[in-house]
Amino acid sequence: MTDDETSIAYMRRALALAEAGQGAPGSSPIGCVIVLDGRIVGEAHNEVGLRHDPTAHAEVVAIRRACESLGQDNLRGATLYSTLQPCGMCSMASIWTSITHIVYGARRQDVHRMYFEDRHLGVMDILHDAFRDDMSATGGVLADECAAYYYKPDDEPPSDEQANV
Ligand SMILES: [Zn+2]
Repeated sequence: MTDDETSIAYMRRALALAEAGQGAPGSSPIGCVIVLDGRIVGEAHNEVGLRHDPTAHAEVVAIRRACESLGQDNLRGATLYSTLQPCGMCSMASIWTSITHIVYGARRQDVHRMYFEDRHLGVMDILHDAFRDDMSATGGVLADECAAYYYKPDDEPPSDEQANV
């Protein structure tokens, strides 16, 4: 498979996790897959409500599972696939985990601002300023399919769903 085909294949798995998260109690339709040496080492959907844990974003849960399953706290060389552009917390968690590539589907401009914690700073800004010259991020893989799970920029989501205000 080419890199594009690989990204699409793993993003489709992340989309399947998002779908599962949409139907699961206390979960949200954000899916994440972490791949190291050609195999999935951790995956998750958002479990914030389920765990009563505001840090249980799909990326953080997937990182915890990957590190636990491998018995290590470093995922250098791994690629993290997420259906939604990672927030600042998940971008930082990826840096602290030494993840090398971040690939995401829906971009900030594709979704409502409720999914982010900062008005301007995004994953690209955080990576640009990180002590990690080997780290990269690519957005927009299957963007439309991913964005279909989220509120659009001009939607008016219920205020009790907006964790960032
Ligand atoms: Zn996050």
